Amino acid sequence: MKKRKIGRLLFWLLLLVVVISATGVTVAMNLAEEKMDMQQETESETEKTSETEQVNYEVPKPDVSEQLLTVNDYSRPGEKTDGIKYIVIHYLGNPKTTAQENHDYFESLKDLQNCYMSANYVVGLEGEIIQCVPDGEVAYASNQENHESISIENCHMDTTGEFLKDTYISLVKLTAYLTETYNLGREQIIRHHDVTGKDCPIYYTEHEDYWEDFRDDVMTYRELCKKQVVTDEELETILKGLAHTYKDKSEAREVEETESEESENRNGKDEYYEEDFVSELPDSSYTPDTSYTPDTSYTPDTSYTPDTSYTPDTSTPDTSYTPDTSTPDTSSTPDTSSTPDTSFTPDTSTPDTSGDSSGDGGTTVTPDPSGAASGGEAGAGDGSMEAVEEL
Ligand SMILES: [Zn+2]
Repeated sequence: MKKRKIGRLLFWLLLLVVVISATGVTVAMNLAEEKMDMQQETESETEKTSETEQVNYEVPKPDVSEQLLTVNDYSRPGEKTDGIKYIVIHYLGNPKTTAQENHDYFESLKDLQNCYMSANYVVGLEGEIIQCVPDGEVAYASNQENHESISIENCHMDTTGEFLKDTYISLVKLTAYLTETYNLGREQIIRHHDVTGKDCPIYYTEHEDYWEDFRDDVMTYRELCKKQVVTDEELETILKGLAHTYKDKSEAREVEETESEESENRNGKDEYYEEDFVSELPDSSYTPDTSYTPDTSYTPDTSYTPDTSYTPDTSTPDTSYTPDTSTPDTSSTPDTSSTPDTSFTPDTSTPDTSGDSSGDGGTTVTPDPSGAASGGEAGAGDGSMEAVEEL
């Protein structure tokens, strides 16, 4: 009986062992499977990340027409910056001028030599971008920040300084690209106004909230570029600042027509208006300088040439002197020694005429061109005033 009991017990024990080990195996197998799954997942994840690395999403460089200025003292001094801490946004203040025209103006300063002005980039009315001064080189745009910034000038259609849609989109792209390239944050995108207090870019000093929208747009675009390729169509739906830009030129013109009357009223009365538009607008302010050419009205100074009327006075005495020399010649036999006397006659005659004409005529004529030149400089003076600011 005891043996039977022991036999049963052993049987149950064996059964238990079998059951336990079986469940153990299945649990272990499940665990193993889970592990496998986990591994597969992580593998597929690493595959994914390597895929993204291969695609290498980044902020693309917008189309830039590189037209570097000739190195010169007035628009491209050729000095290296002390690093790049800011991207400084400007508006040209010269409605309707194109990026090319402004680039060409900057280039012409090497010859005009009447003011210091330029920018690293100019964004045009069609959204075109021209680079005038390389990154990392000083441009004359942002005053005391010229040595640690990149400046971007922007074209616009009217005195409000509101950008066209195409200009705005290009500006966002360019600013995003530059801030990404030089590892700058949102707060390092600044206005010329933030440097000097000047109303530049005026649309974003009069609408602080739009300015914040612009900085947001730049950062949004940057973030999005890291995940995917962003098309222009998508960009138009993303950028909130586009609500504050003209869709096209015709829209701007309509506003401008109604505004031109206002600006006429403001002009002359409002010092702020004068300062802002005269100083930032070299082109318009300089063109009147050609009105200074009337300085050639100084040429009437040649009316002083009647000074030659004095010459007759000297010529007559000259001949009267000659008889004097003739008389002594006959009286004294050592005529041969007196022959030098004839040499004296030419001496007196030539100095008289040349002396008079060069005396009056010379002094009056020379001031004339210098007077015209100083007239021109006076006109350029407006520019150089501004130039001091830009420096
Ligand atoms: Zn400015």
